Amino acid sequence: MKNLKLAAMETPTRTIVNVAGVEVGKDLVVIAGPCSVESEEQTLATARAVREAGADLLRGGAFKPRTSPYSFQGLGLRGLKILEQARKETGLPIVTEVIDPRDVSWVAEFADVLQIGTRNMQNFALLKEVGQAKKPVLLKRGMYSTLEEWLNCAEYILSEGNPDVILCERGIRTFESYTRNTLDLSAVPAIKELTHLPIIIDPTHSTGRVSLIGSMSLAAVAAGADGLIIEVHNNPAAALCDADQALTPEMFSEDMRKIRALKQFFETLS
Ligand code: PEP
Ligand code: MN
Repeated sequence: MKNLKLAAMETPTRTIVNVAGVEVGKDLVVIAGPCSVESEEQTLATARAVREAGADLLRGGAFKPRTSPYSFQGLGLRGLKILEQARKETGLPIVTEVIDPRDVSWVAEFADVLQIGTRNMQNFALLKEVGQAKKPVLLKRGMYSTLEEWLNCAEYILSEGNPDVILCERGIRTFESYTRNTLDLSAVPAIKELTHLPIIIDPTHSTGRVSLIGSMSLAAVAAGADGLIIEVHNNPAAALCDADQALTPEMFSEDMRKIRALKQFFETLS
């Protein structure tokens, strides 16, 4: 791919992104938690449950990029403080989204991974800012973007001096409307041909349906993904954001059992 200097697959060494001791790109890493931080009670209950089920990192948005300006926008600083408390209690490092270049430096003081959402993939001012942050970045694929456009966005971050980029396929827009998006699983082996950066799969936003998340998680593992990011809520019916796609802790725990078993099976093959 032309224009790629740092993201291109030129060296045989794959990037392993160290997130507070969790190595993304080495073993399968599972990130789980609510779409958004809603309260201390909701976040802590969900954090405890996902840790119990074996998640490696906790996700939760304090800044939500919502389609409507009237939808819940997140708790901001208060949400970050709740995440900090959840990390203290569970030991799980935190993945949280940043949507405004002006917020990057102070959000980075709370986050272990800065998430760039699909709607901001080509927000170049934001990419440059996280490129200067001293924290790993989870770069979601734009819902209308090609692999080449996505990798050029990773290049923006790398070229600012931040080597720790994790790519995340979260589904793209197609004519299909049964699922929220269409999960492009072929992105996993394709990205591995094109770049040394790790890639994880988001089975939640790509399907938008609780009933499809388990199968797509297993398919992602089979395709060689370096990890998964899954939305879990202690009480999905009451979720303020993405309620239809959040797993209960029980469902997540059952999926984790299958994910672990499949991973072990693949290890016997290699
Ligand atoms: C999210 O992770 O909650 C989110 C908003 O994801 P995306 O940017 O992929 O829609
Ligand atoms: Mn969400």
